[in-house]
Amino acid sequence: MIKVMRRTKIVATLGPATESDEALDSIVKAGVDVVRLNFSHGNPDDHIARAQKVRKIGDANQRFLGILADLQGPKIRIERFKNDTIELKTGDDFCLNADCATNDGDQTQVGITYKPLPNDVEKDNVLVLDDGRIVLTVISVEGSKINCNVLVGGELSNNKGINLKGGGLTAEALTEKDKIDIKTAAKLDADYLAVSFPRTAEDIHTARRLLREAGGHGGIVAKIERAEAIDNLEAIIEASDAIMIARGDLGVEMGDANLPAIQKRIINLSRSMNCVVITATQMMESMRDSPIPTRAEVFDVANAVLDGTDAVMLSAETATGAYPALTVQSMSDICLSAEKEKRASESSHRLNSTFSQVDEAIAMATMYTANHLKVRAIASLTESGSTALWMSRISSGIPIYALSRHEGTNRKVNLYRGVFPIYFPTVHTNHAEANREAVDLLKKRNVVQDGDHVVITKGDLMGTGGGTNAMKIVEVGNMPKFVG
Ligand code: PGA
Ligand code: MN
Repeated sequence: MIKVMRRTKIVATLGPATESDEALDSIVKAGVDVVRLNFSHGNPDDHIARAQKVRKIGDANQRFLGILADLQGPKIRIERFKNDTIELKTGDDFCLNADCATNDGDQTQVGITYKPLPNDVEKDNVLVLDDGRIVLTVISVEGSKINCNVLVGGELSNNKGINLKGGGLTAEALTEKDKIDIKTAAKLDADYLAVSFPRTAEDIHTARRLLREAGGHGGIVAKIERAEAIDNLEAIIEASDAIMIARGDLGVEMGDANLPAIQKRIINLSRSMNCVVITATQMMESMRDSPIPTRAEVFDVANAVLDGTDAVMLSAETATGAYPALTVQSMSDICLSAEKEKRASESSHRLNSTFSQVDEAIAMATMYTANHLKVRAIASLTESGSTALWMSRISSGIPIYALSRHEGTNRKVNLYRGVFPIYFPTVHTNHAEANREAVDLLKKRNVVQDGDHVVITKGDLMGTGGGTNAMKIVEVGNMPKFVG
């Protein structure tokens, strides 16, 4: 029996629930492809130690686990209360006061982490606290004080987030802390660096420059979580290696009801612009303390797969939840089932467009051929992984094996939908030999058998980046010895 591989990738956030070796190993075995280190918590040494552990456990499981380092960004928060928590009632007056001392919040006011906030808001603005649980209307701004009236009340505790409905806060995307954390991300050789709250493509370019200056090689992920990012969507996608639909903060700024349509738009646009896309936040939220997901969550994950997302992400479910491995397993099952639906593997992607590069044209021709000839597998001998990326923008049911001698490439492509990395150390001058070795590796993994067709792509000069210029169709078990 040929093994069916799950094409949609799973990103899981690490935290206390996955801190032990056993817990981490169990989510890897359950199917995690990329782990997220959340730089909102912990210190650099913790992250570096955790990354080493991830690589060790990845190796032990023979998996190219990617590491995504997620910067905290300028998340604006309230400071702390004298008694840790207050209860706000609808109609109460409440003040966000930039001059209130860090621990001095009470029933009438609380401090804020972003001191210029009073300059960014005006009368009648709506401020949303704690991911939407508390809603305040701005009555007036007086110097450092934002005087509000409570529209939706409830319990409010220390350090909860603040968003402005509709967006418009001017806080810089990369904070001083982020700039230090970028160095940590470089040090632990993160495969991806996620930028929180970017507003423009410039924010992405800056993050990439700082990462490169620090010696990091990772791809840059833009978290779309501000209204302004939606206004600059195309330019941000153009600047990024991957996009994260950060539905938590984005929902608060745009309104939850607008999110499903926005998600579909971001996925379509990202794929058509050769960008990778991750759908994130609250996908399996109820599994933080329940062994089964709600039916709405099952639909949410399956719908993201049908929308064409590369990856689905878990946050608190694996960071602090009671059932991390079960959540991953359950998410994996939902993805696999959704992928069986014909719509998940059909594509009219770029049927009418022109290609600017030879390697891109080969990638497209390969997918057209593979989908129509119904080959069993695609094997892309790749240096940087670009050919596999272009291929994976075309929806298909055929697995794309990325064969690379670079571990960094193998970990990076592990985020791409339908792409499966295989370590391929040799650089051959003899093409027939390389083809046979590639097919042997697929046979060993039980993903092809004699009689199957495989499409292989590579460059004349193996070992040179950007050189893919050839596509070859071979039959497993029937490969002539001296044909190049
Ligand atoms: P966060 O980002 O988990 O870092 O807040 C994701 C989101 O906002 O959805
Ligand atoms: Mn966020």
